Amino acid sequence: METKIVKANTESDFKEAAKIIRSGGLVAFPTETVYGLGGNALDPMAAKKIYEAKGRPSDNPLIAHISSLEQLTPLVKTITPLAKSLMDKFWPGPMTLIFNKSELVPLETTGGLQTVAVRMPNHPVALKLIQEANVPIAAPSANLSGKPSPTKASHVIEDLSGRIDMILDGGDTDIGIESTIIDVTSDEPVILRPGFITSNQIGQMKEDSSVPEDRRPKAPGMKYKHYAPKASLVVIKGKKEDVLAELLKHQDEGIICTDETRSYYSGNYVKSIGSRKDVKSVAHNLYRVLREFDETPVKMIYSESFDETELGLSVMNRLLKAAGHQVIEVGKKGKE
Ligand code: AMP
Ligand code: MG
Repeated sequence: METKIVKANTESDFKEAAKIIRSGGLVAFPTETVYGLGGNALDPMAAKKIYEAKGRPSDNPLIAHISSLEQLTPLVKTITPLAKSLMDKFWPGPMTLIFNKSELVPLETTGGLQTVAVRMPNHPVALKLIQEANVPIAAPSANLSGKPSPTKASHVIEDLSGRIDMILDGGDTDIGIESTIIDVTSDEPVILRPGFITSNQIGQMKEDSSVPEDRRPKAPGMKYKHYAPKASLVVIKGKKEDVLAELLKHQDEGIICTDETRSYYSGNYVKSIGSRKDVKSVAHNLYRVLREFDETPVKMIYSESFDETELGLSVMNRLLKAAGHQVIEVGKKGKE
């Protein structure tokens, strides 16, 4: 299949993309988090095509993207006051809510679950595409399964060219990591995936680690390997000086450092992921940097780590998954 790539700045681009979605085809488009691979969320065949194009297991549920609140009602059984208040505060934006699904939503879209994930993205291209298509658009990240999510059109082209109908190039995505996913099917909200919106912003929330086992299958997607570069990644934890000392030993390999430590290194494959003073910059650059290592010969990458608070928690969630949870803790003895 030939994949049409357009800049997404003319009416006819959107008309054509919307027509593809309505007729069961696939269009990749930018959102404020990462690029999504979109298909009609109400069409079981479109969901199947998405799984096929990504090489993704079909029990990994998809997020339905909407452009207006009217589009939500037909997809869900109930909208609780809790869900309503979160929507009022954070939509459009990087927050996905899990509802009990209505009959209208096919099980193919939800990975066999009776719940559906819904988000209203805050990106003009995404919103216009959904509006034009006039159906909710199921969209996982537009990468091959297992690879880092795409934050540039070129990442999507690399992974999915020839496998999908169209790519809308809307430039680099702003946030760079995926949405925060919150289960609002009960009175008690539960964060299933940390993201750009943090638990502090939301208020009293449980993290998924504190959720009893029997509630976890709600997000089967959480069991799959994610975001990984080709090289093996190891995250180094510990006091700043100890981490630096450890990383300096591995300068023949790949190094992920920060603007604050960049000047200490002289190796050939040293990449700063952003500034510690601005964790948003780290989230923004994370997947691009992981992908850039695929262009190098390194077999190992060693990375600095971040405080697991606020957005740092979400960054570490992605980094640790990319590392398959390979962590080295350094300088432990010296620590309190
Ligand atoms: P992405 O790879 O960004 O498309 O994220 C999709 C992720 O959303 C899945 O891997 C799940 O973790 C989560 N998700 C989607 N639908 C549901 C659902 N019904 N219940 C729980 N988690 C969901
Ligand atoms: Mg993904």
